[in-house]
Amino acid sequence: MIASNLTGSPTVDLHCHSTASDGTLSPTEVVERGHEQGVGVLALTDHDTVAGVAEAMAVAQARGMVLISGIELSCLWRGQTIHVVGLDFDSGDPVLLDAVEQQERVRHERARTIDERLIRKGLPSVLEQARALAAGVPGRPHFARALVEQGVVPRSEAAFRRYLGNGKVGDIKACWPDLQEVVQWITRAGGQAVLAHPRKYRLTNTRLKRLISDFTAGGGNSIEVLSSGQSPQDTAYLARLCLESECSASGGSDFHGPGRHWCELGKLPQLPQELNPVWRSFSDHTRQRLEMLS
Ligand code: MN
Ligand code: MN
Ligand code: MN
Repeated sequence: MIASNLTGSPTVDLHCHSTASDGTLSPTEVVERGHEQGVGVLALTDHDTVAGVAEAMAVAQARGMVLISGIELSCLWRGQTIHVVGLDFDSGDPVLLDAVEQQERVRHERARTIDERLIRKGLPSVLEQARALAAGVPGRPHFARALVEQGVVPRSEAAFRRYLGNGKVGDIKACWPDLQEVVQWITRAGGQAVLAHPRKYRLTNTRLKRLISDFTAGGGNSIEVLSSGQSPQDTAYLARLCLESECSASGGSDFHGPGRHWCELGKLPQLPQELNPVWRSFSDHTRQRLEMLS
């Protein structure tokens, strides 16, 4: 049995990105890097796409790792953008694939809107450049890099601070589906719906509790208790909310590539012992593969 708290159990990382969305490493490179870092169980959770999962699956198999099907879906909750990670779903589920295709259209549309808004601000169009930097649909990080290449800003951070960050002109969030809807896509495809990095939304504790209660009312059943750059106090607080809401617990680096923004793949603390790890709810088939690892 794999447990969260035993030394010698495989290192688990259930949240990371590749060039299939806004990561800087290809799916193959992400898995290889995970392997080098001693990760035994990895979920590739690109934004609104499963385009990298098949490639990652093949590499993981060759390396004796278990790759969990994954995705990170954007959605709206009371006017706020929220991220829900889907884990261990049937990646051939027609409803989910349809929904993902729709999300992709939304992201393309959003990219065009970001570009238009930047142009209206007097900046040059960088849509083509952003597209070239992205393997899939360009997101804000690609726009940021394109603006650096154009010499508009010295660094990506400045692009976010001035044009792309929360509340800025290039922060487009009105087009995502509802929280409950994306939770349903995941659970109906047999997956676990995980509320991603709950501390990153900067909600008050009261509002965070309301989010979790809406999330679980809609069928969500897991909370990402461990995430990059989180204080031990935040982790302890999320562990408490996890128990109170009877959710299972997940954890992931949210690795997007080498650099100082994200912790390394697999380099997370252990899940607090009293929590129920999300992988105990994975499909029988996946759990059998996990048991063979330990
Ligand atoms: Mn991202
Ligand atoms: Mn996210
Ligand atoms: Mn992420």
